[in-house]
Amino acid sequence: MPSKLSASGLSTFRVKKGPMPIPLAERFWQKVARTSSGCWNWRGKRLPRGYGQTSWSSCEQPRDKRCVYAHRAAWVLTFGAIPDGLCVCHHCDNPSCCNPDHLFLGTHKDNIADMDRKGRRVTVPNPKGNVTYSKLGTTEVYEIRKLYAMIPKVGAYKKRGEVRKIFEQFAISEAQLHNIVTNKCWSANA
Ligand SMILES: [Zn+2]
Repeated sequence: MPSKLSASGLSTFRVKKGPMPIPLAERFWQKVARTSSGCWNWRGKRLPRGYGQTSWSSCEQPRDKRCVYAHRAAWVLTFGAIPDGLCVCHHCDNPSCCNPDHLFLGTHKDNIADMDRKGRRVTVPNPKGNVTYSKLGTTEVYEIRKLYAMIPKVGAYKKRGEVRKIFEQFAISEAQLHNIVTNKCWSANA
């Protein structure tokens, strides 16, 4: 699936300079449960929409930890760096799956088309016209509002970096986030 966390998250990391250190790969695959269905489910931290989350930490730069989607990490460990601007998508439509055989690279457009085919996007009526969203459930909407409410303000505005973390985490646009927290959307459902 998509993600704002995407391009910047992994492809700028030092994978381009050589293979990943083995211990990191071992640590990663230990957190994957191979199931009889063929999916390799991420057993570590999961984001509300089911995507696994992990972090790289480099031996050379111990402080350089970056949170990334587990399936994107699986791709990098198996095939190498993800070209800038491409998404790692799931053939199996299982967000936590890290089986490289179930993953494919696509543009954001491909990914949206794939989501449409699988019915994972919803169109919500809005006074200014219908708006299409990535499918978020009530739980996610509550979670987004809760996280947003906890962000401290700097002057009149919420802390920029903290706001970004939320819309990246949920793979939604900043405008979507704004609509959700101002109750323009979801008010009937959430
Ligand atoms: Zn799978």
